Amino acid sequence: MNTVAPIQSGLASAMDFKHADWVSLSESVDRDARNFIDGEVCEARSGDRFESINPSTGEVLVLAPRSNASDVERAVASARRAFRSGVWSKMAPRDRMDVLYRFTDRIAAHAAEFAVLETLDMGKPISDMLNADIPDTLLTFRYFAEAIDKMEGAVTNTPSDMMHMILRQPLGVVACIAPWNFVLLTIAWKIAPALAAGNTVVLKPAEEAPMTATLLAKLFVEAGGPPGVFNVVQGHGEEAGKPLALHMDVDKINFTGSTEVGKLMHVYSGQSNMKRVASECGGKSPQIFLPDLHDLDVAAEYAVNGVFANQGEVCNSGSRILVDRSIADDLVERMVRHARASLVPGDPLDPGTTTGPLVTHAHCDRVGTFFEAGKQDGAKLTFQSDLASELSAGAYFAPTIFTEVTPSMRIAREEIFGPIASVIAVDGFEEAMTIANDSDYGLAASVWTGDVTKAMRFAQDIEAGTVWINSFDQFDATAPFGGFKQSGSGRDKCFESLLAHTQTKSVMINLLN
Ligand code: NAD
Repeated sequence: MNTVAPIQSGLASAMDFKHADWVSLSESVDRDARNFIDGEVCEARSGDRFESINPSTGEVLVLAPRSNASDVERAVASARRAFRSGVWSKMAPRDRMDVLYRFTDRIAAHAAEFAVLETLDMGKPISDMLNADIPDTLLTFRYFAEAIDKMEGAVTNTPSDMMHMILRQPLGVVACIAPWNFVLLTIAWKIAPALAAGNTVVLKPAEEAPMTATLLAKLFVEAGGPPGVFNVVQGHGEEAGKPLALHMDVDKINFTGSTEVGKLMHVYSGQSNMKRVASECGGKSPQIFLPDLHDLDVAAEYAVNGVFANQGEVCNSGSRILVDRSIADDLVERMVRHARASLVPGDPLDPGTTTGPLVTHAHCDRVGTFFEAGKQDGAKLTFQSDLASELSAGAYFAPTIFTEVTPSMRIAREEIFGPIASVIAVDGFEEAMTIANDSDYGLAASVWTGDVTKAMRFAQDIEAGTVWINSFDQFDATAPFGGFKQSGSGRDKCFESLLAHTQTKSVMINLLN
């Protein structure tokens, strides 16, 4: 018998679900990963499909449409029609706000369903969905809904024979291309500002985790969102993402994913219609620990959580741990203690699990090559979690801490996107800063110190879009999130992101005629 409360139960009641409830819901939940175009679910025109696999068991979860350029054409045409009709772009701001508030409420009502779909699709622990991803998603939609009627144009200070107004208008059709590591949340970061600003959207979710997007699009229309305003095209990057990014009738690409593919977005823009591009890409974030920090135990907890959260599949994962040599042994000892106590690999549907499988077996193998490189390059394997034998069918990689890492090693330079921490001992603040900035990436960084001068120098001189002082992974909807250097060119969340989905128009009025 299904002991689970109805799917409509919100986030609060989902918090009370036990492991058996989640397993039961995972079996009964509607697994729909179809395209959503012009307010209707549909298959790819070709009828082709691809499998989405549960990484913790290897089972096929769902067959999703394997879309190509012809499906993209349909979705972009639908989005363009909806945009030109003004049904969304010219909707009164407070009415558009109401639709997005109702949409947010629908997402909250389906919290348990979203949690279980994402956990099945990409292996994220269900407790992470309930405690972080879903609340942050709701906050993101509410923040941008609230901001809609706070956007203003301007009247500038011109000579008295003319009046000049600056109008702020939506761009048109926005293509959102999303990754698999925070499925629901990154989709929210992409589509919420685009929709709030009055644009229409074609979303291409990651092929590894297709189910969330279809449910979201259905709920948007249920909440009163006009058909054609929010479309979803499922499929692979080369087959569906590329024609979307190259499309001549798309006005902006809002992309989150790897730096390699992010660079292609800028190329596609140049090869087509010079559409705007916002890219949120990879990272190799440094966490610096100085001897004057206040509490080594707290710092060690943050160090561990900062690198191992979400199995390390986090763009801003603090995987470079730069610790002053004088406290390195003490910090590492505490890190190992905390890792041993807090990292629990297991079934991600179990609320007690803190470490799920990686997204695919192929990705697990890729992380394994970094593990081998670390050993070959001479790093010391200081800690590795135990993996229970019953997890062997899943794409699990045991959380690992390497010490005696040097800045030139591959594990110190490249984005691993998995649960491997590289601890590098440094001699003082200046050396830590030099190593921290010696990276192609610049997404986020932290420093732990009791010295306000060092903290402020760090904030000023570190080449990163987000800086934490005596903290890590603290976020807010108002805080811009995006990278310096090859971590990308855009900013998610924040009012700036809303404005980046608009364009200004100068209107001159001749006051003499
Ligand atoms: P990815 O770059 O492989 O794929 C991202 C998206 O791009 C997917 O939807 C994919 O289908 C699509 N894509 C792939 N090739 C394409 C092409 N040629 N044309 C158009 N679309 C294409 O990234 P991923 O593996 O899904 O995600 C992991 C990466 O995302 C990591 O590098 C991570 O750092 C990054 N990421 C960054 C942020 C951020 O905000 N900076 C957040 C989350 C993830």
